[in-house]
Amino acid sequence: MKFVTDGMLGKLTRWLRLSGYDVVYIGNLSVPEKDQDEVLLDLARREKRVLLTRDLSLYRSARKAGIKTVPIKTGDVTSQLVEISKKLGHRIKIDPENSRCTACNGVLRSVNREAVVGLVPDSVLKSGKKFWRCSKCGKIYWEGKHWKTIIETISRYNELREQTC
Ligand SMILES: [Zn+2]
Repeated sequence: MKFVTDGMLGKLTRWLRLSGYDVVYIGNLSVPEKDQDEVLLDLARREKRVLLTRDLSLYRSARKAGIKTVPIKTGDVTSQLVEISKKLGHRIKIDPENSRCTACNGVLRSVNREAVVGLVPDSVLKSGKKFWRCSKCGKIYWEGKHWKTIIETISRYNELREQTC
């Protein structure tokens, strides 16, 4: 499942990418504000992406056009993941092995320690076991920070989902 997100969902976008989803974020494209709704609808239609939006009128236009869409009502990322999974009727699959770059949606490729010398702090170089590099923008990720936050979010999401479904 692929997504496209409106300008109010930057944080959710980063989380979905970390979770392994392909997400186009309107905030990453240089689109004038007045054209954004049209571009969002067009991307959803052409690339078969589910449109996530906090804008109710955009949600309605998408519904009218037969585009799969989820209206996001809450502000907290974990609750937003629950909203999406309930609306789509299945669990949002969080797969850190397939994480995408939070900045640009590029695919992360695993790289060895030698490849990141000089690109990460020395302490990270010493303690890190696994490293990834974004195939598009070159941003480096490593196991420590990357995984800890994912694991925390997964458990909060699972707890919340159990409670509300
Ligand atoms: Zn990137």
